[in-house]
Amino acid sequence: MAGARVDPEVGWDENPGAHDHDVELVLAFLNTIDVEQGTDVLTEPGRWQDWVSGLRFEPHSVDDRANGSVEQVRAVRDALRAAVADGDSPANGAGGHVRVELLGGVPTLVAGDPLGAVLAAAARLAVLGDWDRVKICPADDCRWAFFDHSRNRSRTWCSMRVCGNRTKARNWRERARLRP
Ligand SMILES: [Zn+2]
Repeated sequence: MAGARVDPEVGWDENPGAHDHDVELVLAFLNTIDVEQGTDVLTEPGRWQDWVSGLRFEPHSVDDRANGSVEQVRAVRDALRAAVADGDSPANGAGGHVRVELLGGVPTLVAGDPLGAVLAAAARLAVLGDWDRVKICPADDCRWAFFDHSRNRSRTWCSMRVCGNRTKARNWRERARLRP
């Protein structure tokens, strides 16, 4: 779909409690693969580092700067996408570095690496009961991750206007073709 893509240029360290920012970060991470364009940030050399520098990520402690390999990052992303798309995902041992620290007396998830920042954002959405609002468009040529803001969480397509109608039209054409 066009028009509503999330810019991966999102900062992490400015306001870690902001819900919208968590949504943006999680979506940007899930959409590092773009089925429509046939691109994948995590298979093209150097693109992940570019993506991370776009985050303006600042580790809170330098000794914890363990950056997982791109393969690990990709494994986590693909597991997250499978979880979102199918509601099921095999256990995945790979993960980012996240600690809980008391910041100003408040227990706070603190990321030690960029993948940890993404997973901490996803964990906050889960705690707030919003993880099931993160969805992946079922259109085979789209598969774009989006956030379902609808009150009853009923949204299926990234865009009814684009993917919903396109798929309905295709199903109609297929039925018409099969008709004797
Ligand atoms: Zn779509």
